[in-house]
Amino acid sequence: MKSKKTKLTDSQRQQLVSDMRQEELQRQKGYREQALKLFPHVCARCTREFEGKNIRELTVHHKDHNHDNNPPDGSNWELLCLYCHDHEHTRGIQNNRDSDSDDTQTPQEHLSHSPFANLAATLKK
Ligand SMILES: [Zn+2]
Ligand SMILES: [Zn+2]
Repeated sequence: MKSKKTKLTDSQRQQLVSDMRQEELQRQKGYREQALKLFPHVCARCTREFEGKNIRELTVHHKDHNHDNNPPDGSNWELLCLYCHDHEHTRGIQNNRDSDSDDTQTPQEHLSHSPFANLAATLKK
């Protein structure tokens, strides 16, 4: 006798993940284009300049680490190259450990800088 499960099948789960990935990419494209219009195409950290194909290595960093906070004036955005962006997030986690203050965000929230961070919550819906 087969027990009926309401759980998602693997293929459904995969579909959901790829849907979310698409969604995130679309969203990223939206604010990335805006940010690229607003700011000079230069990494805010290492001041490397980007043009042509290289522009793909220039990413939008959210100063408050909240990807949903996208004010059209760009006040929450910073253009960083892939390397500086990576460094920025690693540093954020370390700073958090050093200061050990929990009045803002927990290090865990910094780590959830990924398109799949909300997946667990979405699956529960
Ligand atoms: Zn850089
Ligand atoms: Zn970032």
